[in-house]
Amino acid sequence: MATNETADETADGTASESTDSARTTALRQLERAAAHVDVDSSVVERLKHPTKVQQVSVPLERDDGSVEVFDGYRAQHDDVRGPYKGGLRYHSNVDSEECIGLSMWMTWKCAVMDLPFGGGKGGIAVDSKDLSRDETERLTRRFAEEIRDVVGPTKDVPAPDMGTDAQTMAWFMDAYSMQQGETTPGVVTGKPPVIGGSYGREESPGRSVAIIVAEAIEYYDWEIEETTVAVQGFGSVGANAARLLGDYGANVVALSDVNGAIYDPDGFDTHAVPTHEEQPEAVMSHDAPQTLSNEELLELDVDVLVPAAIGNVLTADNAGDVQADLIVEGANGPTTFAADTILEERGIPVIPDILANAGGVTVSYFEWLQDINRRQWTRERVDEELDHEMRKAWDTVRKEFEARDITWRDAAYVVALSRIAKAKETRGLWP
Ligand code: GLU
Repeated sequence: MATNETADETADGTASESTDSARTTALRQLERAAAHVDVDSSVVERLKHPTKVQQVSVPLERDDGSVEVFDGYRAQHDDVRGPYKGGLRYHSNVDSEECIGLSMWMTWKCAVMDLPFGGGKGGIAVDSKDLSRDETERLTRRFAEEIRDVVGPTKDVPAPDMGTDAQTMAWFMDAYSMQQGETTPGVVTGKPPVIGGSYGREESPGRSVAIIVAEAIEYYDWEIEETTVAVQGFGSVGANAARLLGDYGANVVALSDVNGAIYDPDGFDTHAVPTHEEQPEAVMSHDAPQTLSNEELLELDVDVLVPAAIGNVLTADNAGDVQADLIVEGANGPTTFAADTILEERGIPVIPDILANAGGVTVSYFEWLQDINRRQWTRERVDEELDHEMRKAWDTVRKEFEARDITWRDAAYVVALSRIAKAKETRGLWP
């Protein structure tokens, strides 16, 4: 299981306080942003409630022959713009409140990117590090069966998240296909390319974070070659973001995994540090002049801070000590509502997760299109179209940010809410 919780993959152990649930934070953000848009209050009211939350029991025969039962969930928030879409996480913190909050964020994320999807999120309350590969496979197959009725390529399309990966999606897709009696690649995204996955999907959330950091650097009139960046989390999102930012010329001066952080004011060759997937928890063994804790990394005097590990790391406790000039969210929900307010008061812009890490679900959309059309795109085409979609979304959000003089998060919510409200008003309420 990954060390770094990001849009796709997560680590654990860096949050200093347990704060509001993802659902509470998502609701507060919605209420706050709704004040900036001319949306019918009944639409906002409907968006406060998930459409459906499925809870299932997932029994697992452990390798020693004993049987354990885990709780599994699939929250479906809203599907007015298309099938529910979002990851499955295997993590001990998974519960229905967390899945509901994360499914809300997926609704906004898909709408910010103008993808024809709604929001979903699910998972199993299990620490994936405690499972052998065979156990993970059996658990995944049984979970796929338990939620089979509510998923499907035109209903709800899961993807990787914390503690799950391309192989998990392959098992899920196989279990679903076996029961349906036909190979159905479009039931999940984030699969290995050999069974209908998309090239570039694995790198895509990190890629989008790097693109958005670069856009923001340009917006604020900085030089990327003179920009210092600290990245918390070196899993799929953090590592890919750090590497691409290094390729763009930025100076990545701090990196971390679950065990702690390394710091070099001269910058790292990020390609030389193994990602969690390449070698789990290897960041601290990389040669570096200084080591820090994950908490210290968040308070470094850098230009850009990218929290790409777990949720709730920027809190009321440390937001006052953040010295970065810009925060770009790689993880889902790294900033609590209270921290957001403090950072706003301090004039530190926060580019939200629902824009910055949206490359993951955007390439998931490309994968879904490839599956439906039975035609694989090249890596070059994926990257090119992703870059185009990210810049388009950035421009749309930037226009709202400038026109309304609101935070970046509120601007992204305004874009999302306006699109969703328009769809709801046009479709009407049935019956
Ligand atoms: N789990 C990812 C996210 O939080 C991707 C979801 C997807 O591709 O459906 O954005």
